[in-house]
Amino acid sequence: MDSKFRQVPSGVYTPGQGTGAPEGARLPSLAQAAFILSATDLAHFPSDDGSEIAFVGRSNAGKSSAINALTKRRSLARTSKTPGRTQQINFFGLGEGYRLVDLPGYGYAKVPLRMKQHWKKLIDSYLRQRLSLRGLVIVVDIRRALSELDKQILGWCLAAHIPAHVLLTKADKLSRNVSAATLRDVQRDLLLLDTSSVCDDGNSLFSSQIFSAIKKSGITNLEAQLMKWFTET
Ligand code: GDP
Repeated sequence: MDSKFRQVPSGVYTPGQGTGAPEGARLPSLAQAAFILSATDLAHFPSDDGSEIAFVGRSNAGKSSAINALTKRRSLARTSKTPGRTQQINFFGLGEGYRLVDLPGYGYAKVPLRMKQHWKKLIDSYLRQRLSLRGLVIVVDIRRALSELDKQILGWCLAAHIPAHVLLTKADKLSRNVSAATLRDVQRDLLLLDTSSVCDDGNSLFSSQIFSAIKKSGITNLEAQLMKWFTET
């Protein structure tokens, strides 16, 4: 991905690149999460100001369940039994100037090529052009670890200088030891990918954690990551 739309010096991550949160804005409230709109193309997105954080992941990885657990809502993001069907981007408001974005799931084998291409174009243009984007949560089923597409998205994040947090969900399906070992493997993969890009504070552009929507574990950690991105603007 080129940086035609995101003008940042190469090799340097600049937190809050973009339009910035509105002056005097209140802190984001996950408890107040409310649906704004669904869009299938950039022309219909909400205006690109304030700050937003997007969730992306393979279909069925547990993205909707993670968003619902985070916002403590039963069905804010629909948990779908027909993976790959929804190609829309859903926007949720978290109080004035803050949004959560639910990007369409990917990697479902039965989806026609035409839809896969549409997905790539949509995600690519979203990541390139959305100046209010502060960070990306990549939802990954802990039993599958990082897929090629997950890695491709991490590559896009590097190119666009967008921080990413890998959420290893469904951890309740594995023992503590196996979960911890998978987390270490993912951390190693992230380190390998992210050798060239270091934030101003010396931290990596990428982070990761274990999560379970069923057990409601890892929510505090995820919330802290989101608040960090929202407030370091
Ligand atoms: P999405 O397609 O990525 O939005 O995935 P969903 O949130 O719809 O979840 C897909 C399936 O995985 C559903 O049957 C969920 O109940 C299940 N699921 C989601 N999160 C968890 C979790 O943390 N633990 C377990 N055991 N199942 C989960």
